Amino acid sequence: MIRYNAMTADPALIDPFGRHVTYLRVSVTDRCDFRCVYCMAEDMTFLPKKDLLSLEELDRVCSAFITRGVRKIRLTGGEPLVRKGIMTLIESLGRHLKTGALEELTLTTNGSQLAKYAGELAAHGVRRINISVDTLDEAKFHQITRWGELAKVREGIRAAQAAGLAIKINAVALKGVNDAEIPEMIRWAHGEGMDLTLIETMPLGDIDGDRTDQYLPLSVLRASLMDRFTLEDIAYKTGGPARYARVRETGGRLGFITPMSHNFCESCNRVRLTCTGTLYMCLGQEDAADLRAPLRASEADGLLHAAIDEAISRKPKGHDFVIDRRHNKPAVARHMSVTGG
Ligand code: SAM
Ligand code: SF4
Repeated sequence: MIRYNAMTADPALIDPFGRHVTYLRVSVTDRCDFRCVYCMAEDMTFLPKKDLLSLEELDRVCSAFITRGVRKIRLTGGEPLVRKGIMTLIESLGRHLKTGALEELTLTTNGSQLAKYAGELAAHGVRRINISVDTLDEAKFHQITRWGELAKVREGIRAAQAAGLAIKINAVALKGVNDAEIPEMIRWAHGEGMDLTLIETMPLGDIDGDRTDQYLPLSVLRASLMDRFTLEDIAYKTGGPARYARVRETGGRLGFITPMSHNFCESCNRVRLTCTGTLYMCLGQEDAADLRAPLRASEADGLLHAAIDEAISRKPKGHDFVIDRRHNKPAVARHMSVTGG
């Protein structure tokens, strides 16, 4: 393993399987203004505010990763846009876009706050965002998100379009809930010039319901979509795990994220930082490294870099998610809102 040495050029982050870590996802808060049924229980206990990294500390950790070759940062959560002062962090990370050290700063959002923030995001250098929308039916949207309002999200989407942001819609495929609606969602998203990516539910954290009832393998959904659409596989990549097809009838892109039915770990280039400074080397494993203690122990970044190196040397080969009746327990106890999507 390469050790960090402040006297030499900062070495790249390469894990034991030869994968370059170039993508950092940062969950800036575990809080959210929605309570999506597959993501959270209705009655969630959130982290005490005192445990959170400050915005300055988040900037410091992100900047350390950038000096080590991270080219893409995605802010997520919880809902990133409900973190107080989040625009300060986005603005300050924007400086790395200006120097070219960072290729892309982006975020995944539920869209509820976008009407307010889309213009500022674009002004700080954000070019693309992911917005999660699982249904176009107002009542169903309320059922899935428990607290969300589709009209507000649609207003946010319009604001993002007006600000010139490229949009990818993320939809979690839920058996018996939105599967019949996916063709309509494809036409809607593509008609609006947006990509659409479908996601399989992953067994993360206790929720109120039974995941086996929700889980829909995308291979099954894809086969049924082929009755109506012509899907042509394309090489398009965004740095994330989605595999894309072009829908001939609409001309738009349709992505598939299949952590359950197709393990995509071999090309994993990502690590995930939580809002408390814990680094998860894999979304589907419990192993983690604390970056908050080394960050706070010294004003210089040497200890932080050493902790990052040590963490990357432990990045596992992959996850082993299973959802079936015998394994009806979360694969990992933490919720998706802790490590972010
Ligand atoms: N609040 C933001 C949002 O909803 O876009 C960002 C965080 S959310 C955890 C990121 C993505 O993870 C969303 O697209 C959401 O639908 C997805 N997600 C949440 N829980 C999931 C689960 N158990 N399995 C698969 N995807 C999940
Ligand atoms: Fe909130 Fe996103 Fe989780 Fe829904 S999926 S509860 S919007 S963090």
